[in-house]
Amino acid sequence: MKSRMYADVKTWNPFNGCLFDCVYCRPSFQAQAKRQARNCMECYHYVPHSHPERLDDIPSAETVFVCGNGDISFCIEEYTESIIQRVGRYPKKTFYFQSKRPDYFKPFLSQFPSNVILVTTLETNWDQGYRIISKAPIPSKRYEQFRSLDYPRKVVTIEPVMDFDLDIFAGWIVDIKPEHVWIGFNSKPNQVQIPEPSKSKVLEFIELLKAQDIEVRGKDLRDITG
Ligand code: SF4
Repeated sequence: MKSRMYADVKTWNPFNGCLFDCVYCRPSFQAQAKRQARNCMECYHYVPHSHPERLDDIPSAETVFVCGNGDISFCIEEYTESIIQRVGRYPKKTFYFQSKRPDYFKPFLSQFPSNVILVTTLETNWDQGYRIISKAPIPSKRYEQFRSLDYPRKVVTIEPVMDFDLDIFAGWIVDIKPEHVWIGFNSKPNQVQIPEPSKSKVLEFIELLKAQDIEVRGKDLRDITG
């Protein structure tokens, strides 16, 4: 499946599912999973589970999004090690490993080959009210976990962007030192309502990051960047 999030990327799902239950996941990944009723009921219910038969079925794309239909932090360590082992066989590809619980990556840091980029999502710096959005670690904890990972290659996705404190949030992103940042608005505003920043605030935020030499890549930016 071509990933909708990153151009020229394919998703590889030797593990699927997640229990963080983000409100914006229900009409996207979880809705896609509902089409799997005939193939796998665990996929259908979006519960964490592995698909070992896919371990050696790595997509041909140059860039591979690992376990994009779920959060790998629900995967048992031994199985994640099997995934990392497979990744090591393809030094010319780039692999993105993403989790909203970045602490999970700690035991594997020395095992990741240099073509692995770690990713987390930070939609906002606001902890207050976050529990109605997701059961994942609150933004301040997630930021701290990701920032403190001793790993040289990181990317942050700010998507779907929620309202935030301009200077504090920009400071967080700068502290993390990401190779680049993805940012985008809620792509399903008719199905999910989240507190959003104004377009001008997002523009200002992007300018702050660029001023710190952070590359910003946009997804659904509703034409604010022209
Ligand atoms: S963390 Fe990711 S996979 Fe899990 S519910 Fe949220 S958006 Fe879906």
